[in-house]
Amino acid sequence: MTSDNTGITVTILGSGTCVPSLRRSACAVLMETGGTKLLLDCGPGTMRRLLEAGVAIFDISFVFLSHFHPDHSGELASFLFSNKCADGNRRDTPLTIIAGRGFSHFYEGLKGAYGHWIALSPELLNIIELDKLGNDGQSFGDFTLESAPMVHNPESLAYRITSSDGMSVVYSGDTDVSENLVTLAREADILICESALPDALKVSGHLTPSLAGEIASRAGVGKLVLTHFYPECDAADIEAECRKTYAGPLFLAEDLMRIVNSE
Ligand SMILES: [Zn+2]
Ligand SMILES: [Zn+2]
Repeated sequence: MTSDNTGITVTILGSGTCVPSLRRSACAVLMETGGTKLLLDCGPGTMRRLLEAGVAIFDISFVFLSHFHPDHSGELASFLFSNKCADGNRRDTPLTIIAGRGFSHFYEGLKGAYGHWIALSPELLNIIELDKLGNDGQSFGDFTLESAPMVHNPESLAYRITSSDGMSVVYSGDTDVSENLVTLAREADILICESALPDALKVSGHLTPSLAGEIASRAGVGKLVLTHFYPECDAADIEAECRKTYAGPLFLAEDLMRIVNSE
């Protein structure tokens, strides 16, 4: 199905983690709304998965980072380099990068390591470093943006993207149990939520299937997509664990899984 001008089409580009996996690339999600393409997180392997999804890097207008861990940001430098220097082709439309507090410092660090090779011209690159307070409801043409701090890293943010016709998708990034996530995801059409490890292997800073399900139930979301699976998840019954706390439509992410408005 092609993306149309209504709603938001979600494509999971990477459903995995830092663990190398042929099945699960590191974290990245593509959202398309009203002709605008958004990339949420840019873990290693993202550009290959974009190609597999039929999307050119130049078609991405917005890159959001949930936080700076390498499984979510590790391909950003390569992405910028490719936008600037790809053979016979280069970006001529603006790119906006949106991330939490400290991103400018992070980007300066990347430029310190890679130099001008990754530095897009100021006319092409717009950086928005969200403060954790009072950045709700900003409009970006085809969508509005809300964000909320998560329980993971100091800069961690979850994002809520709402299309011009009112469909909302929330992306948690990495987090432990978070009241902010329940609030941000309130009655969202889709919640894409991390579920890093099975219930029995819970670690600090991450969710499990039943905890993600509880957040989805409390928020009253339309659909829940679990993602960010460590290999231990593939040996567990993730669906059964999530069903302990959540009865609604449930998707277990796989790379290149596509979720459209009408499904
Ligand atoms: Zn992380
Ligand atoms: Zn992660």
